[in-house]
Formats: sequence, structure tokens, C-alpha cells
Amino acid sequence: MKPSLGNLSRSFSRLKKNLIIAIDGPSASGKSTVAHLLAKKLGYLYLDTGAMYRALTLKALKNKIDIEDEDALYQLAETTKISLKQNPDFTKVKVYLDGEDVTSQIRSRLVNKWVSPISTVKKLREKMVEQQREIAKGRGVVAEGRDMGTVVFPQAEVKIFLVASIKERIHRRWKEYQQRGISCSEKEIEKEIQRRDQIDSQREVSPLRKAEDAIIIDNTNFGISETLQKIWEIVEKKVK
Ligand code: C5P
Repeated sequence: MKPSLGNLSRSFSRLKKNLIIAIDGPSASGKSTVAHLLAKKLGYLYLDTGAMYRALTLKALKNKIDIEDEDALYQLAETTKISLKQNPDFTKVKVYLDGEDVTSQIRSRLVNKWVSPISTVKKLREKMVEQQREIAKGRGVVAEGRDMGTVVFPQAEVKIFLVASIKERIHRRWKEYQQRGISCSEKEIEKEIQRRDQIDSQREVSPLRKAEDAIIIDNTNFGISETLQKIWEIVEKKVK
């Protein structure tokens, strides 16, 4: 029997403890959808760290900062205020850059193109990690990104490494673009995803990597509720 979100909700509401649930994985592997939903079910903070790197990238592009200039990028991270605001009913998360709502701007193709190169910069990452830990302090969090389980929250009680086949990931991104009215061929998306995977997993600082104690979930053939169910089984085992 397929799990229903309703049944899952009843189990979720029994979890009282404030945990850190770290979800890492490559682009378009379905992290955002399940991380957001899980946070909503648990009444936890949804920490979308990709959105933070995207917001900084947007600002770097707007300010025409040379992406080779590490000091300028560090300065940028130092002086930029990024905030993630969750609706009281946990349905939406808005991203603010120095007070401006940039929720849709950070999903542009231009940001998609530059976010991975900019995210390789060591000093900029240090600043981001500091902010991410500060945001998560003392609360239940579902944190999503590339280095949640390895670097930012090595103490996380639950670590998931979410993967899906490249074909499925291309299809998911294509569907997302269609819904947003962005026209793009599957071939172009394939190139975009492969380039980001390559930069993210081969960079020197905090590369995309499964933490030793993370559990891999391959959700190629899963719907959202099945993926959530799998994660939930892992959470339940950990808190028992
Ligand atoms: O998750 P999302 O696709 O929005 O992330 C955008 C990019 O931000 C990633 O491709 C990666 O380069 C960077 N990122 C990162 N570390 C994180 C989250 C995202 O380097 N924790």
C-alpha cells in the first residue's frame, strides 16, 4: 500500500524532539520538495542553504563582481543580509536579500549558471556556514544542501543522501521549467545539471559528498509520499 500524507502526518505529530535532519544530494534530486514538506509536517525550520548561495550569486551578478576575486566575494558575504522567512502555516518560504524579496529571481537560469562557480570560494563558504549554524541554533531543522551532513551539521541526528537517475533529474527540472514558463530543451538541461554536479562534487572546499553516517535514498522511482515515508522510517529508528 502506498503511504498517504495524511497517515504520515499523524506519525509526524508524535515527534516532540528538536532534531537536525540533514538532506544532501545533487541538483534536481528532489531534496527541496521533500525537505520543505518534512519541515512543514514537523513544524521545523526549513533551511534551504542552496537559496542562500543563490541569493549571494544574484547580488554578485547585479554588482558585477569578478567571480575570480575571492576577497570581493568574501566582502559581499560579510555585508549581505540573507533571510529565509517561513509563513506561519509553513506553506511557503520567501528569500530576502538585504530586505528585498528575491524568491523568484534566485531561480533564474543566469543564477543557475553562476551559483556553482561562486560556491567554490572558501571564504564565502565559511561565512555562509557560520550563518547557517546561527539560523539553526536551538531549533528543529530540516537542512538541505550539499554539505549539511559533512560540514555544517556533522552532529545531525539524521543524515540523508538523496539521489535519482540523471534521466529522472533532467525530467524533473524540465517539468519545473515548463511550469515556470521557461523554455529549454532536455539536452540543455542535461548539460546544466552535469556541469553543476561536476563543479559541486569536485571542488576543494566542502564538496558534495555523502557523509559516512548518511543513508542513501534513491528516489528515481518514488513519488513524494514514498520518499517522505522512507525518510520518516529513518527518523523514527534514530529517535527510538
Ligand atoms: O540546492 P540548489 O540547487 O538550489 O543549490 C544551488 C547551488 O548552490 C548548488 O549547485 C551548489 O553549487 C551551491 N550549494 C552549495 N552548498 C550548499 C547548498 C548549495 O555549494 N549547502
